[in-house]
Amino acid sequence: MIQKKLFIVVLAALLLGCTQSKDPVEIKIDDLLSRMTLQEKIGQMNQLTGTGLSTDMVSQIKSGKVGSILNELDPITTNKLQRLAIKESRLGIPLIFARDVIHGFKTIFPIPLGQAATWNTGLVQSGARVAALEATATGIRWTFAPMIDIARDPRWGRIAESCGEDPYLTSQMGVAMIKGFQGDKLSDPTSMAACAKHFAGYGATESGKDYNTTWIPEVQLREVYLPPFQAAAEAGVSSFMCSFNDINGVPSSGNEFLNRQILRKEWNYSGLLVSDWASIDQMIKHGVCADLKEASQKAILAGVDMDMMSYAYINHAEELVKVDKVTIQQIDGAVRNILRMKYKLGLFDNPYVKEPKVMPFYSKYALRKAKQAATESVILLKNDSHLLPLSDGIKTVAVIGPLSDAPADQLGTWCFDAEPGHSITPLTAIRNLYGPKVTVIAEKGLTYSRDMNPQGIAKAVLAAKKADVVLLFVGEEAVLSGEAHCRADISLPGAQPELVTALKNTGKPLVMIVMAGRPLTIGKQLDEANAVMYAFHGGTMAGPGLADLIFGKAVPSGKLPVTLPRMVGQVPVYYAHKMTGRPAEKIVLINNIPVGAGQTSLGNTSYHLDAGDSPLFPFGFGLSYTTFKYSEVTVSKKTVSKGNALNVTCTITNTGKLEGQEIAQFYIRDVVGSLARPVRELKGFRKINLKAGETKTVSFTLNDDQLAFWNADMVKKSEPGEFQVWIAPDSQSGKSASFFLK
Ligand code: BGC
Repeated sequence: MIQKKLFIVVLAALLLGCTQSKDPVEIKIDDLLSRMTLQEKIGQMNQLTGTGLSTDMVSQIKSGKVGSILNELDPITTNKLQRLAIKESRLGIPLIFARDVIHGFKTIFPIPLGQAATWNTGLVQSGARVAALEATATGIRWTFAPMIDIARDPRWGRIAESCGEDPYLTSQMGVAMIKGFQGDKLSDPTSMAACAKHFAGYGATESGKDYNTTWIPEVQLREVYLPPFQAAAEAGVSSFMCSFNDINGVPSSGNEFLNRQILRKEWNYSGLLVSDWASIDQMIKHGVCADLKEASQKAILAGVDMDMMSYAYINHAEELVKVDKVTIQQIDGAVRNILRMKYKLGLFDNPYVKEPKVMPFYSKYALRKAKQAATESVILLKNDSHLLPLSDGIKTVAVIGPLSDAPADQLGTWCFDAEPGHSITPLTAIRNLYGPKVTVIAEKGLTYSRDMNPQGIAKAVLAAKKADVVLLFVGEEAVLSGEAHCRADISLPGAQPELVTALKNTGKPLVMIVMAGRPLTIGKQLDEANAVMYAFHGGTMAGPGLADLIFGKAVPSGKLPVTLPRMVGQVPVYYAHKMTGRPAEKIVLINNIPVGAGQTSLGNTSYHLDAGDSPLFPFGFGLSYTTFKYSEVTVSKKTVSKGNALNVTCTITNTGKLEGQEIAQFYIRDVVGSLARPVRELKGFRKINLKAGETKTVSFTLNDDQLAFWNADMVKKSEPGEFQVWIAPDSQSGKSASFFLK
């Protein structure tokens, strides 16, 4: 009897303990799950694209067969659909409305690659916040961004959506975007759940062709492709999205190693994992599943919670459970992740969007931030004889080029909701902001980037001859980059090279501004122009941002988030490469090889006969109108024992005449490792403002985790030995200091 009583007391205490420690959201989910039928659970796992109030959509919502809708944009329709879910489905579980809000909703910021060029995490966070404020007003509470795929191949159209080639910079940018989208509290109606995509390795797509296969050794996967995703998980990103590619033969949507082992077990991630558009279905085309039922099974086993547009789960999951190919626990796990996100977004308490009379689009704040981002995303590559900023002596400017007045193209890829009518182009900005100061002669030369018409070039030459300086806006139309828009030739399209040469031949000072969705091979044009700025696609306010730089109201501060190759054949070309056993020494270029030279006479080192061994510009590069001098780098200890941190410091002085911002970059190199290590790896950066003549100290702390790497046994740890460190203006310059790890 006593034993029985004791047992009851212990049991009660245990139960009480359990319920007390359990998160209230999880308790609510337990309750809801206990009341859901299998069909209702599978319904939550189904995401469909918006079809307004079509009969089919209405009936599916009422019968609990939809968990989320993407691409529905009208708040009134959104509320009607939501009302059906809340009032007319058996359990009244709210829908979640999603959309690709990538670099702005209405007010468009630079493409993510351009935002990464700002190296300004605060600014990037504000950009994502603006996007959330605008998009949530229409009822969107889930964006499929940030895209944090490492992109080292400029042929790949989606490099535009990426933050470039470096795991550390991408991690920082990704986290900034997540903070901006998600705001302080996810339940705030102006917060959107963010989505870290595409998990994983999508940027390694062979030949830079979209959706192509990837082969990624596990060390490289963990060292290069996964860190931004781990950073996103640690920053509390609400969801992840699978990638389209197969990795070493296994498509991500059926990849248990990625989605269960790494994401769930190693990172302990409890957010929602959604497939990419029809990516479960595409496992049939990949050739790893015979039919949609098998694809559905593979995806559930791999831990993909929600099926975007494959109709795989809704058609096959019930049967898979019934024949024991999938367990109810696996279904419950997926539904739990989905419901958790809905609870955290506050959708159970506050499912409807306010139908505002005036939409909060293009606010002053939004436009100001978009302009700042446009300005800071521009990288000055060349500025002979201080041509920029234009001096007061310039009275007439010729504004030329297919991108000079292309409101839609300057917005770049992935902005379906943007309104080009709101774009301020370079031509408009120069006319409106600087028109009173200078006379503007406008002549596009070529009407769009692929235009081949030579007559336009002749007109442009006439315009140039009348001006004191030529401002030439070249690049790519928006449609030449982005998803499924890859190029094998990444030079300036159309007759733009001829346009540049013709303008150079006028002898007028030539400023070339490149507005593109990717790094382009512009070596010849770089030689022809007197000053060159790389602007990517700068968004709604690209024009004012550029005009301020050209006329000196702003000083360039952007730095390359990706290497600019000389030739496409150098790709992949990135700063954090390995040394090789025969690093380039004496470089003899193809035209300098003596006729009849012997096979070994060039020295047998690692370079291309036609491109040499350097890119056109390295990662991290960018000039200013002022100059910065870096002091020697000092380390706080010459020897450090494992587990202890050390400080690396230098001073930076603005040695020029103008106030400006400098991005100081902190790199390390592990000189001898059990595996060959990159020649440099970015471990930190600071964007600092310096008045003319001002000096500031910049200091970085280096800890054991930053020295560690994934070794051949798939263990991440640091190894004793010598390390070099740099604080430098880019990835190739600067003098190193060193220390020893004991
Ligand atoms: C893209 C995703 C995007 C999804 C939904 C897919 O084609 O790969 O990045 O989020 O469509 O629009």
